[in-house]
Amino acid sequence: MSEAVEFEIGPIRPPSEAGSYLLRLTRNCPWNRCRFCRTYKRHRFSLRPVEEIEAQIDEMARIRDRLRDEGESDGPRALVARGLVTTEAEWMVANALANGGRTAFLQDADSLVMKPENLKRVLVRFRERFPEVERITTYARSRTVARLPVEVLRTYGELGLTRIHIGMETGHDPLLELIKKGATAEIHIKAGRKVKEAGLELSEYIIPGLGGREMSEGHALDSARVLNAIDPDFIRLRTLTLGPKVDLWSEFHGPEARLTRQTDAEIVAEIRRFIEALDDIHSRLVSDHIMNLLGDLEGRLPDEKQALLDRCDAFLALDPGEQRLFQVARRAGLVNGLSDLEIPEVRARAEALLAEVVRSYGPDRIEEACRDMMLRFV
Ligand code: SF4
Repeated sequence: MSEAVEFEIGPIRPPSEAGSYLLRLTRNCPWNRCRFCRTYKRHRFSLRPVEEIEAQIDEMARIRDRLRDEGESDGPRALVARGLVTTEAEWMVANALANGGRTAFLQDADSLVMKPENLKRVLVRFRERFPEVERITTYARSRTVARLPVEVLRTYGELGLTRIHIGMETGHDPLLELIKKGATAEIHIKAGRKVKEAGLELSEYIIPGLGGREMSEGHALDSARVLNAIDPDFIRLRTLTLGPKVDLWSEFHGPEARLTRQTDAEIVAEIRRFIEALDDIHSRLVSDHIMNLLGDLEGRLPDEKQALLDRCDAFLALDPGEQRLFQVARRAGLVNGLSDLEIPEVRARAEALLAEVVRSYGPDRIEEACRDMMLRFV
């Protein structure tokens, strides 16, 4: 790689972008105050100079061309073994190529905070160098999107931006305030509708369990109400995962606690209530994260709404022993959906694991054991 190119790759991307080219436009998060989020804590936000981003795009294209000539279909690991991939940048490009080389993700937390003329320049350069890429997506904050004219968003779409991922988290105003999201239900609706009006795809993220027992009903019903007003293309679930270093922890634990953590079964019941209240929309509900208990809770609304509810009911109808077995198996990454427990080897491993967890934590502390297991994925 040319030494003059400042190549940067940000820390995260959505699971659906695991095989995408990653292009960092800004560093960290301009808001950085959400109480459940530690991703960018202690890191200052900054914009990358456009010239630097353009140079990185050119460098990515050079790496792509070289790897194509040298047999990218072998996949990044084989290329490393052959000494053809030695840097993080080369690995990222090789990984994207191994996944088809047709998708890209713009990092970090809020790319649309860039000046429109600069983001347009970046999109133009990317399209020049990567005409084969069919999908370009990015994270954005509702507050940022709500301030942008629809015409600007439409221009981004014409220049290749296809999808925006927004962390709504909840549509319940008291909870949005408590978590310091910096957005209200009204702002979420305004932003979501603008994205749709501009003809871009929209993916909204919701955090089941975020409001504890006390706010569960408001969280479920208001989140559904806001999503019903937007009709996004995707609704993605990200079940609450809390460690002691997260600011929101003190709302659930210790002398200042105002909220009560929900059990896995209570969170499934909350999700059920949420799905039941989704009405007259055409979104795809997606459960593409290891933190979600029901990994196969996926389907398109409205046609598959009943199937989604049935999947929740299937877990809720299990006897407590079977629920515990599934919880432990899921938190250990052994299963995705309930049907996986019907595979004899999987079931045997899950039973052995449950016995071990009961020995270590005691029979009454399975929820706690599962939360500890979840933290390993954070
Ligand atoms: S806007 Fe996103 S990245 Fe920024 S603090 Fe909130 S959750 Fe974290």
